[in-house]
Amino acid sequence: MSAQLAPAVRGLLSPSVLSWLDKPTLGPFIDGSWRTARSDTLIDVIDPGTGLPVTAYAASSAEDVSDAVAAARRAFDDGRWSEQDPEAREQTLRHLADLLEKDAEVVAQLEALDTGKPLAEARLDIDEAIAVLRYYAGWATKVEGTVIPAPRRFFATSTREAIGVCAAITPWNYPLPILMYKLAPALAFGNTFVAKPSEQTVLSTAYFAQLCATAGIPDGVVNLVPGAGATGAALTATQGIDKIAFTGSTRTGQAVMRAAADTLTRVSLELGGKSPQLVFSDADLDAAIDGVMGGIWTNAGQVCVAGSRLIIDRRVHDEFVAELVSRTRRLNLGHGLAPATNLGPLVSAAQRDHVVSLVDQAVAAGANVEITAELPDDRGFFVAPTVVTGARPGQSIEQEEVFGPVLTVLPFDDEDHAIQLANGTDYGLASAVWSGSAARVHRVSRRLRAGTVWANTYGVFHPTLPFGGVKASGFGRELGSAAVDHYTELKTTVIDL
Ligand code: NAD
Repeated sequence: MSAQLAPAVRGLLSPSVLSWLDKPTLGPFIDGSWRTARSDTLIDVIDPGTGLPVTAYAASSAEDVSDAVAAARRAFDDGRWSEQDPEAREQTLRHLADLLEKDAEVVAQLEALDTGKPLAEARLDIDEAIAVLRYYAGWATKVEGTVIPAPRRFFATSTREAIGVCAAITPWNYPLPILMYKLAPALAFGNTFVAKPSEQTVLSTAYFAQLCATAGIPDGVVNLVPGAGATGAALTATQGIDKIAFTGSTRTGQAVMRAAADTLTRVSLELGGKSPQLVFSDADLDAAIDGVMGGIWTNAGQVCVAGSRLIIDRRVHDEFVAELVSRTRRLNLGHGLAPATNLGPLVSAAQRDHVVSLVDQAVAAGANVEITAELPDDRGFFVAPTVVTGARPGQSIEQEEVFGPVLTVLPFDDEDHAIQLANGTDYGLASAVWSGSAARVHRVSRRLRAGTVWANTYGVFHPTLPFGGVKASGFGRELGSAAVDHYTELKTTVIDL
């Protein structure tokens, strides 16, 4: 790949990261080895903290994609993985998790460099990926079938089998955890896999593909096709895939679903969000301020479950917002690898420009905007944490997914009004209720149209907790036992006695 890092950034990276970046140009990983891409398209890996290119990799062509799917198909059909004893698959996946844990700091630094997120957040991402891998390793030996009380003349069973070749198309905000939500259950149940990470954040997925080979996962079971939308589109158009798991924007999710109709491939879609945090005046307001801040400033707001709409009791609106702004001013905006940073840049210049334009539109429409920080003095893709008040319900800043550090505040007059505002977008991914009344928490939770409701907390993810959306936020649930349905197929066997 041949790294061309800014000297100050080079000094923050470990020798192992530098030597990984200095490898020859990265391309597709197919059948257990790195291939030269059958395309001339090189994609730059940009450091969002400096705006400078770090290295480049070769985008996979439609032929590369076809080779990867064919390799995964062969690996599935000859049973080199699916017909191993479940216990053997469990051991291999645990070994893979151990290898990832051993290299966790290397992968975290790659992730922070690639996404721009603070290193402390990247470390948590890698911890989460390891936990998800271990959790599903355990599932390999836990899925059982049933004996069905069919007419007594027959002995009928229902058993679960791997479904075949699974493809994952993933976004740039949490590259390794989101890959793992898909790859870990797919592999645990004996499927084979083709990964298409975001063109903007390929490094951690590439490092992980190499670890899969080291862990003893048979060749062809895990394949990687780095590239942009064209590579993703080629993947969704390729015959021979049994399931596509997509995480990304609602618009791309629609394109994936349309393409999957032609190949009759099942899909699960984890899409965008515009998640509300409802703060009632009977809440612990001090805790709620921290919760709202965590919900929107984490990963600079580039979070599918970003709590980007604060819906708050009008009676506490002013004091709450004033304190939130004052605490936000204490955050350190900077390069993700710099030790003092707790808020990084956005992933790209395009994303920064998109966020700034949405804020500008809100101002033009009469909203008040509080910018809480000076931008660091360099060329990174920074946006200061921004609090928007006085926006009208229905305005684009209140309806569209900003995917940046922008919090829109809407006051409510009573519980019904709060719920009406909360449910008043196309999305339905996550939500939160902050209240000291258990009855209110239950009452409001029931009426929120969202895949997840957190109460008096925000952003709790765990391998055991099913996650996904409703409405324009997609369908299907990842994590927890829900993944069993995604990555296995039921077989009914009927024996005439
Ligand atoms: P995106 O939709 O632009 O891209 C996602 C992936 O799709 C990338 O790998 C991209 O290369 C690929 N792609 C682009 N065009 C394609 C096509 N025509 N066919 C197939 N693949 C194609 O999303 P993004 O900007 O990378 O990520 C941000 C979005 O992801 C936000 O909307 C965010 O809410 C969403 N997201 C959702 C979740 C969730 O779990 N619900 C989690 C993280 C991010």
